[in-house]
Amino acid sequence: MAAGRSIGPIDRGKKLKHVAMEIRGQLLRNEPMSLHTSLKTGGPADLYAVPEDAEDLQNLLTRLGDRNIPWLPIGRGFNLLVRDKGFRGAVISLERFDRITAVGGSLIKAGAGAENLAVVRYAQRMGLGGIGFISGIPGTIGGAIKMNAGAYGEGILARTDHLTLLRNGTIRDFRIEELDYGYRHLRLEDGDIVLAAVFRLDEREPHRTEEEISKDLELRRSKHNVGYPSAGSFFKNPHGQSAWRLIDAAGMRGAKVGGAQVSEVHSNFLVNTGGATTQDFLDLAAIVIGAVFATSGVTLEEEVRIVGEI
Ligand SMILES: Cc1cc2nc3c(=O)[nH]c(=O)nc-3n(C[C@H](O)[C@H](O)[C@H](O)COP(=O)(O)OP(=O)(O)OC[C@H]3O[C@@H](n4cnc5c(N)ncnc54)[C@H](O)[C@@H]3O)c2cc1C
Repeated sequence: MAAGRSIGPIDRGKKLKHVAMEIRGQLLRNEPMSLHTSLKTGGPADLYAVPEDAEDLQNLLTRLGDRNIPWLPIGRGFNLLVRDKGFRGAVISLERFDRITAVGGSLIKAGAGAENLAVVRYAQRMGLGGIGFISGIPGTIGGAIKMNAGAYGEGILARTDHLTLLRNGTIRDFRIEELDYGYRHLRLEDGDIVLAAVFRLDEREPHRTEEEISKDLELRRSKHNVGYPSAGSFFKNPHGQSAWRLIDAAGMRGAKVGGAQVSEVHSNFLVNTGGATTQDFLDLAAIVIGAVFATSGVTLEEEVRIVGEI
């Protein structure tokens, strides 16, 4: 979770009321996060902000920071589990930061709010490629960077030249070598917001990229079509192993708590079969983790980001 400082419940309403006056973009109050997460669960965010541009965002953060109000940047919520009590503070959507530009040579710059497939398509038009593996990963560049999203053994950060971060009120570029990252993980400081990423690509005939995109989308249509809302893989693959195999071996395929279920189609997908709460998912995840540990001695770790008030 970004910006860890919490504030007392008594004065928070007053402070948020004041903040609500300040933004040029959109600002909603008590916004149900179930509307902004692919699992379709989650209680309200005190504030849900959609800043217009970097200046608008900086002004918002200054006001939130002055009042010790925490914030959480999000993309499209495809990897997000928000607790049922919601998020105390401001959830910030970067959806308006969606510009994609060529910056010379084989470099492409994409705003945090750009959709993954749109970036692949843009590069394709420039005769560039090498990130076709993100074509079918739902979400934005900001989410993909934070999660080091990837597929087929590749991760987006290996293709990243540098990131533009908003850190402590200042916009600064960081070369990827300056940052600590690994499988489905990029370490950022509390409060950091990814504004944009620059990718170093290869020259590639557009038809080759087209083949990559089609292959990826087709594979996903056949394997990921689980019929219910999900967040994709719920657990990380332990080193050298597949989470779904371990879950299957533990007899957990199809296991259910309330409306949350281990998918019958893909046992590393936890799905909302209707009316699930976040607590259902947390309880089901705990049962799966326990069963996998009992049968294999491996402790599964959630890939989805769990946020919000406990
Ligand atoms: C059907 C399906 C298939 C999937 N397949 C894959 C797959 O193959 N590979 C894979 O890696 N993932 C996969 N996912 C998971 C998900 O699509 C990725 O994790 C994706 O990168 C999330 O992007 P998002 O924009 O929705 O991020 P969100 O879910 O909104 O956010 C994810 C995390 O990133 C942080 N974040 C978002 N934007 C910013 C920002 N601008 N600055 C700082 N932090 C930010 C959030 O705080 C949160 O911690 C799949 C999901 C689904 C539903």
